[in-house]
Order: sequence, then C-alpha cells, then structure tokens
Amino acid sequence: EETQGEDDYFRSYSDVSVHELMLRDHPRLIAYRDGIEKNAQLFQGKIVLDVGCGTGIMSMFAARAGARKVYAVEASNIYEKAEALVRENGFSDKIQVIHDVIENVELSEKVDIIISEWMGFYLLHESMLGSVIDARERFLKEDGKMVPSSGKIYICPVAMEQFRKQNVDFWQSYYGLNFSSIGEEIMTARMATPFVEQISSSELLSKPQEFANIDFNRIERSQLVSLTGEFSFGIERDSELAGFAFWFDCDFTLDSPSPIILDTAPSSEPTHWKQTTVFLGVFAQVQKGEQVDVKATMLQDEMNPRHYKISIQT
Ligand code: SAH
Repeated sequence: EETQGEDDYFRSYSDVSVHELMLRDHPRLIAYRDGIEKNAQLFQGKIVLDVGCGTGIMSMFAARAGARKVYAVEASNIYEKAEALVRENGFSDKIQVIHDVIENVELSEKVDIIISEWMGFYLLHESMLGSVIDARERFLKEDGKMVPSSGKIYICPVAMEQFRKQNVDFWQSYYGLNFSSIGEEIMTARMATPFVEQISSSELLSKPQEFANIDFNRIERSQLVSLTGEFSFGIERDSELAGFAFWFDCDFTLDSPSPIILDTAPSSEPTHWKQTTVFLGVFAQVQKGEQVDVKATMLQDEMNPRHYKISIQT
C-alpha cells in the first residue's frame, strides 16, 4: 500500500508537464536564482547536493554560481531530461545526476550546501521535507547551509466572496431556472475538502498570523507529524467568515544584504502553490472589531503520510 503510493508519487513527477508548470512559475525561479546567484560567494568551490533535481534547473544555477561539484539526485524518470539538459548546457564536468530516492543514495563526501525545491501546498503537502531532513542528517557538513534556510506558514480568516458567487449566484438563475438546491449540495461537497485556488487579498478579513516558523537546519521529522496553534484574529470589516486560508513563504537571503523571499501570499504574484482554504462548512456572520478565536491543526495522515489533515475549530 505504502510502496504503491510512493510509486504513484514518483510516477507523477516523470510527467514533463508537471515540470513545465514549475519551470514557468516565475516567482519560484527568481527566488532560487537570486538565492543562489546573490550568494555566489557561498557556492564558489563548494560541494552541493540538490535533493529532487527534476530537470536539473537548480543544480545548473548552483554550477553557474561556481559550485565545484553538484550531486543532482532524482527518483523519477525525469532524471533522463536532467542528464540531457546538463550535457547540453555544458555542465557534465560539474553536475552528476543520480537516479534514485535520496534515502538510498550514498555519497563519498559530505556537502557544504543542500538545495531543494521540496515545498508543497501550504508548505508541507507531499511531506518531501522529510526526505530533505534525512539528506541533511546524512550528508550536510556541521556548518553547512540549507537553501532555502527557513519558512513560515500563515493563517488568515477569509470571506471567500468569489467562491460564493461561483457556487451560489451561479445556480440561482440557471438558464432561467432556480437550481439553488443542487448548487447547495455541490458547494457543501466542495467545502468538505481543502480548496487550493488563488484567492484575492480582498478576501482576507484580518491580518495574517504565523501558524508555524520552521528552521530547515534544525527541524526534525518528528516535529512534522503534528503542528498546532491557537490564534485570535481581529476582524477588520463586516462580512461572512467562510474559513481560514493557509500559505507560506521561504527565506533565501543567506548572506545577501537584501532579503530574498519566495512569498505565496494572496497579495504576492501568483505561484503554482496558490493558497489552501479550509472551510468552516457554514458562512458565519462577523463584524468589524470582533475577535475570532481559532485552534488550527495540521496532522500528517497516517494512511497517506504525504498528506495532512487540516482542522480548524472556532
Ligand atoms: N528541483 C526541480 C524539481 C522540483 S519538484 C525544480 O525545482 O524544478 C520535486 C522533485 O523531487 C520531483 O522531481 C520528485 O520526483 C523529486 N523527489 C521527491 N522526493 C524525492 C526523494 N526522496 N528522492 C529523490 N527525488 C525526490
């Protein structure tokens, strides 16, 4: 069962269109490029490990920034493309593509830097961070660096007016008929699972708060099983509260004089991570100045540890 899930996971990353989606995600590329190139002095002459290199893009950024050697590890069949692209871009002498899961890889030396693009929806979806932690524990030198180095998950109450328009108004006058009661059932079903879509910052009913702040140099696998927090939000306008949105940012600043942040907030340029909204199931009337208290939990799914169950209690 578990192995089956893992096969599906890596098979999905063999599909070139998944990589196209990521390669066209401009804010993602800019954060990694700047994080590497504006810290080129950290990379010069160094040994780098890229966990899950995909097409090899981040490995090539590292090699171009002066890394002496890059181990580019990729479990899915996309590794063939990485090999071809590395060759075609003249990096064969610096980048070694290794086709395996990182957990099975042995390296003959420790590395100065680990780069990886492991982030999923709401940061933790896919649980690939566990593999990166494993790599850090086995391969990173004592004073080695993680790129990105830390990340935060945010939580914020949302109105989801756009969602309601598309799911309520749409059915109210449907080819001249009132189809609200089927619309309601469709919407209720949709609200039972987290909704991964880009939301407008006008949906936010309060200032976002930090749900988690994770130092990738220190976090351990056991700390990723369950994350929880209690929050009190000051509501900033009269509205209906639909639920809570989650998103993340990641820090690539390292030694650069100015901050380099990949931010997936509603107010930032959209990325393929969008935001993840968890619905209350009802639309609760809220007023400006009111406090909304919530306990939020992300719990790794026992059946499928690559997923989390996100719960909110108000
Ligand atoms: N670094 C590439 C791809 C990022 S997507 C880029 O930035 O464009 C994450 C990649 O990591 C996928 O290709 C996936 O197959 C790979 N991956 C996930 N877990 C892995 C593991 N445990 N070992 C090796 N590769 C892994």
